[in-house]
Amino acid sequence: MKAIQEIIPLLATPRKVVITMHQKPDADAMGASLALYHFLVAKGHSVQVISPTNWAQWVDWMPGAEKVMNYEKEKQAADELLENTDWLFCLDYNIFHRTKYMAEKLAAINCTKILIDHHREPDTPSFDYGISDTNKSSTCEMVYDFIKAAGEGEKITAAIGECIYAGVVADTGSFRFASTTASVHQLVADLKTKGLDHEKVHGFLFDNFLENRLRFIGQVLQNRMEVFYEYNTVLMAVPKSDLVKYEIKTGDTEGLVNIPQSIQGIKLVALVIDRDEERKWSFRSKGEFNCNQFARKYFEGGGHFNAAGGRSSESLEDAVKKFQKAMQENKEQLQ
Ligand code: 5GP
Ligand code: MN
Repeated sequence: MKAIQEIIPLLATPRKVVITMHQKPDADAMGASLALYHFLVAKGHSVQVISPTNWAQWVDWMPGAEKVMNYEKEKQAADELLENTDWLFCLDYNIFHRTKYMAEKLAAINCTKILIDHHREPDTPSFDYGISDTNKSSTCEMVYDFIKAAGEGEKITAAIGECIYAGVVADTGSFRFASTTASVHQLVADLKTKGLDHEKVHGFLFDNFLENRLRFIGQVLQNRMEVFYEYNTVLMAVPKSDLVKYEIKTGDTEGLVNIPQSIQGIKLVALVIDRDEERKWSFRSKGEFNCNQFARKYFEGGGHFNAAGGRSSESLEDAVKKFQKAMQENKEQLQ
């Protein structure tokens, strides 16, 4: 994989471009994709953003979201675009299988593939150009860096700023995680001078839910949360019946895994949700516990050091048993 800087001179020639992100895109994946979209369109390229799946309503407000294709709904048209594209950008994921049903197509097409991502263990041989930097707060920050490195900072509009800011806020836990460097704050200051309305973005991201979601969180904290003080660990196991009862939709469970981190001394929080096709895990840790390694070893997943995800194919009950065993095996690291 060649350095991302090497494609900057090639930006001058208009090209057909497809931008992709991981399945069930969050604010960072969607924000980075749309920020890059607006920039490349302004540079004269012909650009389409494709999401592997649907996304949460709390990213729907982003400028350009209405033009994003959902691969699961528009496979044929999306495949055609992919087969004919010159460039493929891969944002906020680093291995094709994170794009679910799109993965096979992405691996098969013959075009220039460009990675911009901040997760661990990238599949670099799959990409022609790119940057993979786990020290970066967010892929949005990396898209910002890319535009600045291209010497095109003046092309960052208020719309691009909203997309970038949303991803930075989401992936830094509103500027609290260790990844929130001085550069992150400088980026925000720069976006402010370009017209960013940060209050509006916070409203869209955090004050944009229905009553049912809050009732659901109450139910989970009251009845589905177990604290293992001996292991400084919290587990929340959410059965399908809760999702049905509270009419939970894509995105409604975002942020839930962070709440138990407010309990004194907790090092690891695990959330498992009984989805139709799999039991989906989220892990969050503080300090020295490596969630990426834990998710990879036990739950076919990965991510970052302090935030990762994974899956189990067995029943919720068996997935929980597996977790408890894994927790016991990691007793030393958790104490
Ligand atoms: P979340 O818990 O918010 O869904 O995910 C936390 C982090 O782990 C995100 O950066 C996400 O991209 C990553 N992640 C979530 N699920 C998976 C997975 O199944 N495999 C891998 N490799 N990463 C994941
Ligand atoms: Mn991200």
